[in-house]
Amino acid sequence: MINITFPDGAVRQYETGTTSLEIAKSISEGLARKVLVANVNGQVWDANRPINQDATIKFLTWGDAEGKNTFWHSSAHLMAEAVESLFPGVKFWVGPPVENGFYYDMDLGDRKMTEEDLGKLEKKMNELAKQNNAYQRREISKKDAVQYFSDKGDEYKLDLLQGLQDGEITFYSQGNFTDLCRGPHIPSTGLIKAIKLTNVAGAYWKGDEHNKMLTRVYGVTFPTQKELDEHLQMLEEAKRRDHRKLGKELGIFTFDDDIGPGLPLWMPNGAVIIEELESLAKETEEDGGYKRVVTPHIAKESLYLTSGHLPYYQDSMYPPMELEGVKYYLKSMNCPHHHKIFAAQPKSYKDLPLRLAEYGTCYRYEQSGELFGLMRVRCLHMNDAHIYCTKEQFYDEFRAVNEMYLKYFKIFGIDKYVMRLSLHSAEKLGKKYIDEPELWKETEELVRDVLIKTNTPYVEVPDEAAFYGPKIDVQIWSAIGREFTLATNQVDFAQGRRFKLEFTNADNKPETPLIIHRAPLGTHERFIGFLLEHYAGKLPVWLAPVQVKILPISDKYLGYANTILHNLKKADIRAEIDDRNEKIGKKIRDTELLKIPYMLVLGEKEMTDEKVSVRRQGKGDLGARSVDEFIGSVSAEIKERHGEDVQVSTVA
Ligand SMILES: [Zn+2]
Ligand SMILES: [Zn+2]
Repeated sequence: MINITFPDGAVRQYETGTTSLEIAKSISEGLARKVLVANVNGQVWDANRPINQDATIKFLTWGDAEGKNTFWHSSAHLMAEAVESLFPGVKFWVGPPVENGFYYDMDLGDRKMTEEDLGKLEKKMNELAKQNNAYQRREISKKDAVQYFSDKGDEYKLDLLQGLQDGEITFYSQGNFTDLCRGPHIPSTGLIKAIKLTNVAGAYWKGDEHNKMLTRVYGVTFPTQKELDEHLQMLEEAKRRDHRKLGKELGIFTFDDDIGPGLPLWMPNGAVIIEELESLAKETEEDGGYKRVVTPHIAKESLYLTSGHLPYYQDSMYPPMELEGVKYYLKSMNCPHHHKIFAAQPKSYKDLPLRLAEYGTCYRYEQSGELFGLMRVRCLHMNDAHIYCTKEQFYDEFRAVNEMYLKYFKIFGIDKYVMRLSLHSAEKLGKKYIDEPELWKETEELVRDVLIKTNTPYVEVPDEAAFYGPKIDVQIWSAIGREFTLATNQVDFAQGRRFKLEFTNADNKPETPLIIHRAPLGTHERFIGFLLEHYAGKLPVWLAPVQVKILPISDKYLGYANTILHNLKKADIRAEIDDRNEKIGKKIRDTELLKIPYMLVLGEKEMTDEKVSVRRQGKGDLGARSVDEFIGSVSAEIKERHGEDVQVSTVA
């Protein structure tokens, strides 16, 4: 018999050789139907793999990243089986899961894969899925594996085998298809209920342009048809809300060849959004007892040697420039600069917690192929701060950081979010993790406690912490259900010591502070990219670069329009006049396209009555108001930072 320990600590006995799937079944059939893979003793295993020793077990389903990835990777095998039946003699390279589905790279010889073929493949995949074939794992010697693929004439799998040794080679088979793969996979093909092959593209073997061009087929699968339908609809909507498209149409940012890839230029409309976000952050941080600092964009090599960014992080930094015989680097993180500010004056426990904040500009070297709109850039502005505190203060400080996130989520109408808490692994202390067993345990418990007490949705990920402390990645979902990584909070036991940061404690002894790194609004780049998609470009009034457009029906009312403009400006409302010689209908349509929240239509009646006719983006005509009344209600909306205008999918 073996002892199986469940996540809640319960222990039950099972026959040696029992599988995770059988264990799930012993709990409930419903659970067993959902299990895709299982975490067995810290490793993700096939749910139908026999367990021969005592183990801790966690079932992984569609809701878990590993569950989903395994589902998609297994779908790549299913697709390969379908391809092999329609294109006999095809050779396969690799078929990993990706962000939204999977792909498989293949060599079709002289044949070409067409859009029409994708339809045929989908049909074949559905047929094979219905056969509900099990994914069967088999350990195999290198000699036999090489023999198998030599007989098959597949030089790609032979290439993969070169890097593998006896004892680490496994084959997986389902139906008539066998693949070299380390696994794991889902129990059987019948779990794949909805299939869409989305794209065919060329991809050089091993990503090297000197190699042969292979065919890459992308697909996505789901456990239900409903989820696939929703996914395809979301993709359509995401295309409409693409931040690169909206950023251009709304004059928010641009890229220029002479500036360089990954270096966005923020245009006047973008600069307004940036300023509004910064003033929100400043206000919030001031309330939270933060102090603002300003630091240079470059620093000497020695700073980054102390911090450890050099040499470990060197690949992500811009190459150094040499000045007076000393190497300077563009800063890729603000932390070391802030640590130097902490160290600049002696500190006692009475100075803590010290919270240093800066919207810091950082430069990172991202590979050209990785750059993507505002999401992956080489220059970024981070809503950064570092909190230096004692162990006793840690709980309250972390809780306040968490509350700041929740406040922002409310303002921006972010309903779905999850904190991903990465923990250490006790066996790897002193190797992968700094050797501070007590601090790890204490802080992890405090962080968990905050998340539980504040009802913050979170998941725990074992053995994925940073070297210097537990980390919390913040995942958010846009109004159309797309997931974004917003920011990372980091608890840090190491940097304080590396920089010899100290405070005098109550017993008059030197002590190293704990450091919390936090950036709730992430970077301007990523957050504004997110907001454009989230709001479909229809930013709430407080964030809108132009809040009110004044539309005189003809030149005759320009004088009145200017008076209104003057009043709005005096009330700090961002307004413009459309003084083109265009029909009012066209002016309204054009303003709608620019997604400006309010329009004021001015004609004879409005001028005589000293009123304005108000139109609201997306809501139409709101009727006539006095100017003061309009200014009063818009000012209140701006002040409260109303954000209820999130536009959820309009396709539905
Ligand atoms: Zn596989
Ligand atoms: Zn930091």
